[in-house]
Amino acid sequence: MTSDQLLTAPDTVLPALRGAVAGLPSYVPGRRSAGMDIAALASNESHYEPLPAAAAAVAEAASTMNRYPDSAAVELRERLARHLGVTAGEVAVGPGSVGVLQQIITGLCDAGDEVIFAWRSFEAYPILVELAGARRVHIPLDEAEGHDLDAMAAAVTDRTKVILLCTPNNPTGVPISHERIEVFLQAVPSSVLVVIDEAYVEYAEAGSGPDSLALYRRYPNVCILRTFSKAYGLAGLRVGYAVAAPTIAEGLRRTALPFAVSALAQMAAVASLDAGEEMEARVAAVRQERARMAAHLEARGWKLKPSQGNFLWIRADGSLRASLVDAFDASGILVRAYQGDGVRITVADSASNNRVLRILEAHAA
Ligand SMILES: *Cc1c(COP(=O)(O)O)cnc(C)c1O
Repeated sequence: MTSDQLLTAPDTVLPALRGAVAGLPSYVPGRRSAGMDIAALASNESHYEPLPAAAAAVAEAASTMNRYPDSAAVELRERLARHLGVTAGEVAVGPGSVGVLQQIITGLCDAGDEVIFAWRSFEAYPILVELAGARRVHIPLDEAEGHDLDAMAAAVTDRTKVILLCTPNNPTGVPISHERIEVFLQAVPSSVLVVIDEAYVEYAEAGSGPDSLALYRRYPNVCILRTFSKAYGLAGLRVGYAVAAPTIAEGLRRTALPFAVSALAQMAAVASLDAGEEMEARVAAVRQERARMAAHLEARGWKLKPSQGNFLWIRADGSLRASLVDAFDASGILVRAYQGDGVRITVADSASNNRVLRILEAHAA
């Protein structure tokens, strides 16, 4: 039955959604044209299939689906702790790092509390803040497409509970340097949680972004947020994690939806950490493709900021953006277009990347 067929009298008043929910944008699924060779470059997923060890772990865990998973995710948290050089008490996991971020915001913010983040950045940030009934304070990116940390520090009030730093930034690919974050942390009160979202950290060149673990050790109000969705290729399984001071990590675990991270996801994540070298080889190939594409485009007049993620950012507004979107659409290439700002394209296999280059060449600046 479709909603058109619901039998409601004209004067029936249905239960109302909260204002914050009614105002949220609906999810718009990517368009697909039948019969076309689609290149899915809109979500920064890995184009590689899961690591073989992860696929094997999922196959094995599948026989336990009648049971709830370990709600404390002990094995995964201990494996992560060993990987990162922290204790399991400092690790909280969730259904994707978006799930962990929801735990962070609902765990720290009362209605009306403020969350500061840069804009444009990850689209989930405003949604999670609104859902929690908190207030979003967004600070425009600077001229170099990076975080304006001075303005972010100046925006702190006594209602500020959380600040989100995204490095490298989605969608612009620009990292925040270690030194700049350190200066920022000295300016921000230690009672404000500074979340460093490193969803793409594996793709960044060494030294381009922060040594976030070193910052965490020095500034216990730092919270590191990472995911298995991107470089590890487990986007569909939903598992991410935070590293935070033990009391905060414990609070995040308490805020979590019970059993939100499946046994399949937990086992696949452990197996993926064990197969770190294979993951790194794949990441190196993507980085090489990223450099090849950037050089190719620069030689043809495109001025791009060097991206440290597995994606390229094309700043384009008005008619250029519209004609790019049309051209990608017509070629069956799914990209992420941002109204008024530009287009983000995931770097994938070289055949897909070449299709992207051909389109961008035809629109060279
Ligand atoms: C993709 C992405 C995530 C990861 O989300 P998951 O919920 O872990 O899949 C987190 N932060 C940013 C900035 C991202 O781009």
